[in-house]
Amino acid sequence: MNRSLYSVCGMCSVRCPIRVEVTDERINWIEGNPNVPGIEHSLCARGSSGISLLYDFERLQYPMIRIGPRGSGQFKRASWEEAFKYVAEAIGNIQSQYGKKSIALVDRGAGLFGEIQRVFLRSIGSPNYFSHDDFCRKNVDLAYQTLLGYGRPEVGYDFSNTKHMVFYGRNALESLGVREANNIIKALSNGARLTYLDVRVSKTATKATKFLQIRPGTDYAFNLALIHVILRENLFDREFVERFITGLPELENFIKPYTPDWAEKETGIPSYEIVELAKQLSADKPKVILYPGWFAARTMNYFYNARSIIILNALLGSIEQKGGLILAKTPKEVGAKGLNSLLERVPAPQEKRIEAEEGKGFLYDGAGHILHLFRAIKTGQPYPIKGLFVMRYDPFAGITHKDIQELLNGLDLLVAIDTNYSSTAWYADVVLPESTYLERDDMIGMQRGAKPTLIMRRKAINPLYDTKGKWEIFTGLAKACGFGDYMPYESIEDIWNYQLEGTGIKIEEFEKTGQVALCKDPLMYSRDDLRFKTKSQKIEILSEKMVEREVPYFLEFQSPPKPDIEKGEFKLVFGRIAVHTHVQTHNNKYLNEIIPENDLWINDQVAKQLGIKDGDIIEISSDDYSAKIRAKVTPFIHPETVFMYRGFENEVPFKTRSVGKGVNEGRFLKGAFEKMAYGSHTGVLFENFIKVRKA
Ligand code: SF4
Repeated sequence: MNRSLYSVCGMCSVRCPIRVEVTDERINWIEGNPNVPGIEHSLCARGSSGISLLYDFERLQYPMIRIGPRGSGQFKRASWEEAFKYVAEAIGNIQSQYGKKSIALVDRGAGLFGEIQRVFLRSIGSPNYFSHDDFCRKNVDLAYQTLLGYGRPEVGYDFSNTKHMVFYGRNALESLGVREANNIIKALSNGARLTYLDVRVSKTATKATKFLQIRPGTDYAFNLALIHVILRENLFDREFVERFITGLPELENFIKPYTPDWAEKETGIPSYEIVELAKQLSADKPKVILYPGWFAARTMNYFYNARSIIILNALLGSIEQKGGLILAKTPKEVGAKGLNSLLERVPAPQEKRIEAEEGKGFLYDGAGHILHLFRAIKTGQPYPIKGLFVMRYDPFAGITHKDIQELLNGLDLLVAIDTNYSSTAWYADVVLPESTYLERDDMIGMQRGAKPTLIMRRKAINPLYDTKGKWEIFTGLAKACGFGDYMPYESIEDIWNYQLEGTGIKIEEFEKTGQVALCKDPLMYSRDDLRFKTKSQKIEILSEKMVEREVPYFLEFQSPPKPDIEKGEFKLVFGRIAVHTHVQTHNNKYLNEIIPENDLWINDQVAKQLGIKDGDIIEISSDDYSAKIRAKVTPFIHPETVFMYRGFENEVPFKTRSVGKGVNEGRFLKGAFEKMAYGSHTGVLFENFIKVRKA
C-alpha cells in the first residue's frame, strides 16, 4: 500500500520540510516539501540519504548500560525500564550528595523541537542547560543581542531580493540550508553581487562576483577599515542612522586609525578593494546583506567581528528591509496566538547557573556557556557537575579528544542520547537510542520570521529497532525520577493538543502541507513602527547589556601571529563539506561512498618549498599528536593556512565504514577548553598552528 506524508528532515540542524513516500511500510522516496517556497522538491545530498540512515544496521538499536571500563565499548543490552531506573538512581545519588544543580544537559541547540529536554532538566530541578552553540553560532547571537536586542534566530536574510551579499568564509552553498542556497542562487541569477572573503576558494567562492583572499584571522581588520571608509566618505544611510543608531560619535572616534592602508598590511587585501567595496555597498544599499554567518567560534575577536558586520548592515540601512535583514515577528504581532510552552508548566529552578556565579567581564544570556560547564566538571568550581546528559552532540569528536576524555572521567554519570553511535556514546555509562527522524514524532515547532509558521515532524514508519522518540525518552526519565507530574504525556497527541490549546488550530490541519502559517502575508515594520528590543529601542552601539556585564564596547585589533612557513608551520582551518553533517554522517552508506575521508589543502608554492606533491601522504602534528593524511596541493588557499574538511576519523569500531578513516581536526585543537573569545566566552577554534612535513 502506498502513502505519502509531510514531515521535517533530521539529517542536519536546518530541518528542511520534506515529503516522504511509503510503500508497504518501507520508505522509498524523500524529497523537499513541494509546497514550501525556496524548497520546492529540493533536498541536499544528506537529506536524500536519510533512507540510508534508517535502514543502517550500524546505528544504535537498543538501550545499553556500560559493564566494562569507560571507553572499552563493553555494554550490556538493557530494557528501557532498566535503563531509566539506572539513570534515575544515579541522578538521585548525585543530587543528594552535590545538590540539584549538579546535573547538566548539553545538546546541539534547542532549535525547533528542543523544548522537551529542557522540561525534563527543569523537572529534576537543575538550571544547567547547555548547547553546542559556544562552538558554533553564539558570537553572532550575542552580537545581535547587544546591538538589536534580537537573538540570531530572530533575524532572517532576504537573499532572493538582495542586490549585494558579503560572505566571510560562509560557504553557504556547501554547508547548511537548502532554502538558503536556493535563494542565494536565485539572487545571483537576478544579477545580485556576491563579495566573498575567505582563506580558500570554497564552492561558494566559485560563484562570487569578487573573491578576496584574506589572511587568516583578519576579517575584523577588514571590517574596521570598511566602516572607516563608509563613515569617512558619508556612504551610509543617514536617515536610518540618525533615527535608529546610538553611539555613532564613539564609533567614529574608535574607527579613526583603521584606514584601508592599515588594513591592507593586516589582511593582504589591497586598500583600493576595500574602498571600492564600500562604494558598491553604498550604491546597492539598503538591499545589502553582510552575512555574519552561522559557525562563528573562530578567533579570539569573533564576537567583536560579528558586531562589526551587524554595524555595517545598520550603517547601510539594511535592517528590516526587503533584500536585507528581516526581523522575526511574534504570533501576537501577526494577530495569532502562539504555541503553549511545556517549559512554563514546570517551576524554574531556584539555584543559579554556573556562569551566573562566575562574575562579570563576559556576556551572559542564560543560555549556557559550555566552556564554563567543562571547567566546572574539571575543577568543581563554582560548584561540582557530576552528571551529564549529552544529546545528539559529540564533544569527543569535535574538540580535543585527550582533554575531553580526562574531563568526562570526573563524572559519576554520563548518559548519551543519540541516533548514531557517537564517540561520546562509546564512552558513556548509559546509552539511550533515539529513533531516527523518519521513525519518530516530535513536538510542534515554530519557524520564526516575517510570517511565523508552525511545523510538525511526523513518523513515516514505526521504529525498526528498540528505539524511542525524544518525547518518550524524557517523559520516561521524568517518571522514573519521580517527576512525572511535570510531564504527564501519554502520547504525542497529548503534547500537540496542549501546545495548540487556544490557537484554534487542529492537528489535522498539518496533514495538508505539513505546515500552518500564523498569518497570510509576511509582516514588515515600516520605519515609523520600527523598534528594537534594546532598552533605548534603538540599535545600541554602546550597548546597555554590555555595560551591565562590564564588557567593553570596542576591541582594538591585535595582529594575529604569523606561522613560520619555512619550518612547515601553518594555521589550521577547517569547515564543512556538502555531503557530511558535523561528525554524524560519515558512516552513512551513501555519503561514505561519496566522500570516505578528508585530505589537507596546502598552497602549491609552499608545498613546492617543502617538497610536497599533490596526493603525497604527509605528516601533520601538534605538540602531542601526529597523523598522516593525503595532501591536496592547490593555488586556491592562502599560504599561511592549511585546511581540512571536518568530522572524519571515527573511532567507534562498530561503525565499520568510517572507523579510522581520515583525520579529525579536534586532535589538533590545543587548549580548546582554556581559550575563550573576548567578551563572549565562546570557543575559539581557528587559533592553532600545526606542523606539516613529507611523511
Ligand atoms: S540542509 Fe539537507 S540535511 Fe539539512 S535539513 Fe535540509 S535537506 Fe536535511
